[in-house]
Amino acid sequence: MFSDYHLHCYFSGDSDESPENIIQTAVSKKMKHLCFTDHLDLDYPYDDCCFDLDIEKYYEEISGLKEKYRDIIDIRIGMETGLESHLSTRLDEKISMRDFDFIIGSSHLINRVDPYYPSFFEGRTNKKAYTEYFESIAECLKTCNNFDVYGHIDYVVRYTPYKNDTFYYRDFADIIDSILSSLIRSGKGIELNTGGYNAGLGCPNPCPDIIRRYKELGGEIITVGSDAHTAKRIGDYFENAKQVLLECGFKYYCVFKNRKPEYIKI
Ligand SMILES: [Zn+2]
Ligand SMILES: [Zn+2]
Repeated sequence: MFSDYHLHCYFSGDSDESPENIIQTAVSKKMKHLCFTDHLDLDYPYDDCCFDLDIEKYYEEISGLKEKYRDIIDIRIGMETGLESHLSTRLDEKISMRDFDFIIGSSHLINRVDPYYPSFFEGRTNKKAYTEYFESIAECLKTCNNFDVYGHIDYVVRYTPYKNDTFYYRDFADIIDSILSSLIRSGKGIELNTGGYNAGLGCPNPCPDIIRRYKELGGEIITVGSDAHTAKRIGDYFENAKQVLLECGFKYYCVFKNRKPEYIKI
């Protein structure tokens, strides 16, 4: 079983799950490592959810559990940071507060709007919505570089109300290639996020064509995560993830310690 490198517990504004339940589930699924990646979305513009992570409390509590379970599972501590081009300096400050093992940089907002909310798609076709999303990633990459892998690169696809209008990498190949090339040049990875299956896409985020393209362009760093917000979803669809990685030409996946990748044979 892969180690789950994208999950959330009650330190994230959108989860009520206890970290200990998550650890016990991971142990029952025979994972060797586990990395907590709770949300830090500074300036999140909606009142119904707060993603301003209490880093001190989070790090302290997970460190205690890491110690408690040290002979059973290797627990690592990370964050999923919401990237926006104006946040670069503030994110650097927050990340430097503690010795994190792993940072996922994710785009959750497009010009300050989260496509999770259906209103984002009002007046937008999929083509327009997806183009704006990928352009916002390209914009983030100009200033934000304090992360190890880019999270769910086609996140916007999860939430489209126009489900019949299928997303194809080839329709956005130029901009996606430039994003992937930029990540590879700066030594960053991507993740295979099985939340896409949970959202009914029938594939992970990003879709296999993007994962394959990252590899073709020379990318080697890929982590696997469920994006679980509850213990029962830890390791969800990891058998599918394995097939996708092998089909895309990967022989290894990565875990991180002290912000450095470790390669594990699939
Ligand atoms: Zn995310
Ligand atoms: Zn997440």
